[in-house]
Amino acid sequence: MGAVGLKAVSVDPWARVCERFRQEFGDHALSSWVGQLTYVGMENNVVELVAPTKFIRDWIERHYKARLKDFFSSEQGNIRDIVIRLDTRPAQPQASEDLDPEADPEVSPAGGAQDGLDPRYTFESFVVGKSNELAYHAARRITEPGMVPFNPLFLHGGVGLGKTHLMHAIAWRVRQMDPSRRVVYISAEKFMFEFIAALRFKDTHAFKQKYRNVDLLMVDDVQFIANKNSTQEEFFHTFNALIDNRCQVVITADRSPTDLEGIEERIISRLGWGLVADIHPTDYELRLGILQTKAEQEAGVDVPAEVIEFLAKRITSNVRELEGAFNRVVAYATLVGRPITLEVTRDVLQDLIRANDRKVTIDEIQRTTADYYNLRLSEMLSERRARNIARPRQVAMYLSKRMTARSLPEIGRRFGGRDHTTVMHAVKKIDDLRRDDSSLEDDITRLTRLLEG
Ligand code: ADP
Ligand code: MG
Repeated sequence: MGAVGLKAVSVDPWARVCERFRQEFGDHALSSWVGQLTYVGMENNVVELVAPTKFIRDWIERHYKARLKDFFSSEQGNIRDIVIRLDTRPAQPQASEDLDPEADPEVSPAGGAQDGLDPRYTFESFVVGKSNELAYHAARRITEPGMVPFNPLFLHGGVGLGKTHLMHAIAWRVRQMDPSRRVVYISAEKFMFEFIAALRFKDTHAFKQKYRNVDLLMVDDVQFIANKNSTQEEFFHTFNALIDNRCQVVITADRSPTDLEGIEERIISRLGWGLVADIHPTDYELRLGILQTKAEQEAGVDVPAEVIEFLAKRITSNVRELEGAFNRVVAYATLVGRPITLEVTRDVLQDLIRANDRKVTIDEIQRTTADYYNLRLSEMLSERRARNIARPRQVAMYLSKRMTARSLPEIGRRFGGRDHTTVMHAVKKIDDLRRDDSSLEDDITRLTRLLEG
């Protein structure tokens, strides 16, 4: 007994309750219901849990609460009651020290003390489509037992496409499956601030220990540490040390390793050693799927199919905005007590729809086109004139002219400082070529569709 026995009790009663639940009701029931809950703590023999939606809470109250109470009682002695609160936090949760009060405050399962882990961001709530399937499966693989064949996992994609969601999902899953694995989730920004603070207080040793003693380190949004030399250096050392110890590292950024500017070459090349998985902009099917899932979770609110289709067609920017639009419509209809119709939707979302209509940016066109032709962005914008690079560059210029309101000189500037006559030439060239060249025509149709969503 002694220290070991005590530790076993304090590690994570919730993980064990979940495990017993799984044994009795199966994987599916766990992931759909009880796995969606967050364990807050226990006071005066009352267990407090938080549910992401009212629907999930009501379902658990009706079907599983009594059994959960038994499980807790056998873990912790006599439990009087279980209270399931609704999650009332806004979209961007604050650090949630309350996630697991018993965890080691430095390095805890799922890194609860490091950063807020959003209970809604699980694998179960992640809708998989063509644009994100590689990232999704790679993330799942990290949580499975056995050697992971890639390290690090580098996820990149534009804002609001699910990178953070996948990282939290990894943390939750690991916490559920194997609470003894030490997981740290941290934003690169926070990593940087901590490091700077450690430097100031001459306490870099503790800092290093903290990050080098984990099994799984996840650093979100590493583009934030570009151009911050000392942080980069420390990040790189930590990262090397972890990989040499066969610890898994997961990293996200809003662009690919090779497009990260201001980060040293050796860091970039090592980042690229593992698996680089990009999350593409959503397509219509994925947006439909996401909205349908959300509609099903809204108990008691009827969202007609035509409204869902309308939203999926018109809100193409990213998933965060799509969810925001959906929530706004539901909130409005609920408050005003009107049924949700196409008309109400149009009305409520006027501004958003207008913004999405003129949304495509040169930046997106460049990224999407480079991606499409398997080029690096830097290559496409370079001086190189080889045809396999020059043609995609011309296509991107052409699309920039066609799909944005930008002027020729401005487009030239955004393409590595080229002259407006170069852009004009490109536009004309592609216009001519696409008439006879069916594969080029096909490329342009597809790219347009990708960009319009
Ligand atoms: P990122 O970190 O890439 O900027 P987030 O992970 O914060 O994006 O995602 C933004 C919002 O969109 C979150 O609420 C997230 O749950 C949701 N989201 C993104 N992709 C999906 C998806 N495939 N299925 C369900 N929800 C998603
Ligand atoms: Mg994010």
